[in-house]
Amino acid sequence: MSLPSPCHSPQSLTIGGAAHPAKPLNPFKLVDLQHRRVEYLRVSVTDRCNYRCTYCMPAAGVPVVGHDRLLSFEEIRSLVEQFVALGVRKVRLTGGEPLVRRGIVDLVAMLAEIPGIQDLSMTTNGHLLAPLAGPLKAAGLSRLNVSLDTLKEARFAQLTRQGKLGAVLDGIAAAQQAGFAHTKLNAVVLKGLNDDELSDLALFAGERDLILRYIEYMPIGVDDFWGPQTFLPVAAVREALVTDWDLQPAPLDGTPGGGPAKRWLAQHRRRPELAVKLGLIAAVTEQFCELCNRVRLSPTGTLRECLSTAGALSLRDLLRGGANDQEIRAAIAEALAGKVDAHRFDRVATAEAMSSIGG
Ligand code: SAM
Ligand code: SF4
Repeated sequence: MSLPSPCHSPQSLTIGGAAHPAKPLNPFKLVDLQHRRVEYLRVSVTDRCNYRCTYCMPAAGVPVVGHDRLLSFEEIRSLVEQFVALGVRKVRLTGGEPLVRRGIVDLVAMLAEIPGIQDLSMTTNGHLLAPLAGPLKAAGLSRLNVSLDTLKEARFAQLTRQGKLGAVLDGIAAAQQAGFAHTKLNAVVLKGLNDDELSDLALFAGERDLILRYIEYMPIGVDDFWGPQTFLPVAAVREALVTDWDLQPAPLDGTPGGGPAKRWLAQHRRRPELAVKLGLIAAVTEQFCELCNRVRLSPTGTLRECLSTAGALSLRDLLRGGANDQEIRAAIAEALAGKVDAHRFDRVATAEAMSSIGG
């Protein structure tokens, strides 16, 4: 990766301007060649996980990187500061399982202090959440997404390979007690494996004032599990839900940066007092790439512009090589110029596990 010349000040960062001379790009923001403004950074804090979800990684797990290759907390903070200076407003911590990274509460506190972040959230499998929910809230975490694909204990153990449903349910309850609002549940929908629970999951969320998102299974980290035998389009989810629920399109949920989910307000047909906010994420069948406002930072500091493409820029190596803030920002901006216009899941699967990429 060649760095732009040192005289490339932040004020003169334009990305791909020459290729689109008719429509100048905002020099102060991260804007890619498709004129999508990047405001959302997902930071994978570890590639390790205490679960082995069937749709995410092989039973034996995936090789994990050594600690010296992981970004330190100081390096994460430093890089997040550069992204924020370039216009990022929303930061999500993910993994692997972010709660297995030692000192995660301290990292949250460090990031919560960065001026300019409007929304600092985390996606977790919830297994370790019960004792940590209060400390995470006190450290400044704004919101939580908890993955929950089934409410059946044996099925949960089977899908996650080593998960315990009870621990996750305790974690969700603890998050609510700690005062987290707008908590979302993420359910990957799997044909023949949890598609008989679509309505029950909505009921569970509605009764607890949680938001539920149904996510299409993406061909990432695939062995032979992804395929027509397990893939369920969200169109089928909508069809299944209408038996029990009246679905009305809902306005955006108001969280900074928005998101890819199509939102619905569902009212239970036989319990009219019960309503639940639903999100349907059709990553495979209804591409939303033109709305994409996000980039990813891997546990080893690689910038990944799209889930479907391998990242090439090591921000860790730049940092450790002594690059200054300006050079880091210039490198990020240059890499963003290469953000693909759309993912390729309909044609190509991504071999790397979701846990390593940072889902
Ligand atoms: N360990 C945390 C968790 O499970 O919530 C965070 C990392 S996980 C990779 C982030 C999200 O990606 C989870 O909601 C998980 O269900 C989802 N995910 C993992 N593999 C996926 C796949 N192949 N397709 C769609 N979603 C997937
Ligand atoms: Fe499951 Fe998340 Fe771990 Fe993947 S990273 S195995 S989705 S808990």
